[in-house]
Amino acid sequence: MQNQLFINGEFVDAVGGHRLPVINPHDGSVITEIAEGRQADIDLAVAAAKAAFPKWKAVAAAERGRLLLKLADALEANSEEFAQLESLNTGHPIKDSRFLDVPRTAACFRYFGGMADKIQGDVMPVEPGFLNYVVREPLGVVGAIVPWNFPLMFCSWKMGPALAAGNTIVLKPSELTPLTSLRLAELMREVGFPNGVVNIVPGFGHTAGERLATHSDVAKIAFTGSTTVGRRIVEYSSSNLKRVQLELGGKGANIVFNDANITAAINGSAFAIFHNQGQACIAGSRLILQEEIAEEFISKFVALAKSIKIGNPLDPTTEMGPLTSAMHRDRVLDFVKVAVDEGGEILAGGKSPDDPALRNGCYVLPTIVRVRNNESRVCHEEVFGPFVTVTTFKTEQEALEIANSTEYGLGGGLWTNDLSRAHRVASQIRSGMVWINSYKRVSPNSPFGGTGKSGYGREMGFEAIREYTEAKSIWVNVDAKLPPWYPRDATKN
Ligand code: NAD
Repeated sequence: MQNQLFINGEFVDAVGGHRLPVINPHDGSVITEIAEGRQADIDLAVAAAKAAFPKWKAVAAAERGRLLLKLADALEANSEEFAQLESLNTGHPIKDSRFLDVPRTAACFRYFGGMADKIQGDVMPVEPGFLNYVVREPLGVVGAIVPWNFPLMFCSWKMGPALAAGNTIVLKPSELTPLTSLRLAELMREVGFPNGVVNIVPGFGHTAGERLATHSDVAKIAFTGSTTVGRRIVEYSSSNLKRVQLELGGKGANIVFNDANITAAINGSAFAIFHNQGQACIAGSRLILQEEIAEEFISKFVALAKSIKIGNPLDPTTEMGPLTSAMHRDRVLDFVKVAVDEGGEILAGGKSPDDPALRNGCYVLPTIVRVRNNESRVCHEEVFGPFVTVTTFKTEQEALEIANSTEYGLGGGLWTNDLSRAHRVASQIRSGMVWINSYKRVSPNSPFGGTGKSGYGREMGFEAIREYTEAKSIWVNVDAKLPPWYPRDATKN
């Protein structure tokens, strides 16, 4: 298991010799200790990325793409190892790591590998006699800061477009979940990424993260994480006015109308909130039900939630694993207290499982809370766990008011068989992504990102390439006669 920092193509210990333990969320045991990067290590990584940038930018775009395609192949060739490592470190059920995390990561690298030599410029219709063309240039050194909920996949979301476009990168994984990114670094070295193009420095936010975000040689920070830290990143960026892209929290509305296919809606709504133990920024954490179908929906939804098989993430029959850290489990359970204090009724879960085999793990049962009304704190604050609130509505307008009543705006969904209503409501939900008769679909081809407190900027699709490049406008005087601004012959002065 790789446990050193990856800087300038080498695996190295931290300058100060610091180390941090990596914990297994299933039982609280220490999986390994890794080198902990701090300010001095970030400085070395940024210097390596800065030195590598001019050469990497000059590499033929098709070659940059070929390396990303090779990386996707190498990842697939080692897919079982990556799935096991991701599940061990994060608590993702192994079936999810096998069928979602690893394939989606490979697909993302492959998408941007194919994109690398299709990043085109434009020729603009300017005044006669001039040729004006616009090229998209890489920014330079990109600092990527990612959280612990999908650590492998987020490497590809940041590295794919950044590298395809010709940037070099320093990635800081979460201190909790560094293992798959370090293994990925080994593959990147094997497939031939030049030294310094990719650097991976696990460490804490207030040391390594802050240093990266304030560093004057970093041209952009691509951040995924909480809204609180996102705000800080914006402040840090002012040091050199670096670009910032923010993928922050969410409080996804999931509206079920009375004409929906109820079976599909129940299943899809459970996936929306319970997949990955609810630790997803796009989780459908607010179930908003039309009154006529509410009682039937709730009783079947509760029964489904109670039937979800919880246990060791490495067991292939497990449907829900532990949360990724003990601190986060306690935070989620604190929200249960808040819900109860506010008069909410716990319809399922609300506690850790009784199974003694899971006692040392970070487990929380699938939790369903019927809130007194939409004013409850738990309807507005991101819980980021297997915790869903239930409210009801009478009219479409009321559903939209509830859906749009939070300050977040990342993902949202609706279930209906009325085609007109589907499009009408989708257009009025204030969020970066909307799913109709499904939830949480994600593809490298389609832009991902939010609005409001969910941040700004987009990952995936060509939008992502725009985020990692800037337009340069080049003017050529082909045969224009320049106006005589100073009508005298300057050579005679
Ligand atoms: P977090 O904001 O605490 O940490 C995210 C990353 O930022 C970590 O690598 C952390 O070490 C680093 N960090 C912390 N303090 C920092 C600082 N002062 N300076 C620089 N870096 C710092 O978030 P988390 O608890 O790891 O992740 C959960 C949050 O991430 C949730 O709010 C969730 O909604 C959000 N998230 C958003 C998306 C999205 O795409 N919109 C996706 C996944 C998770």
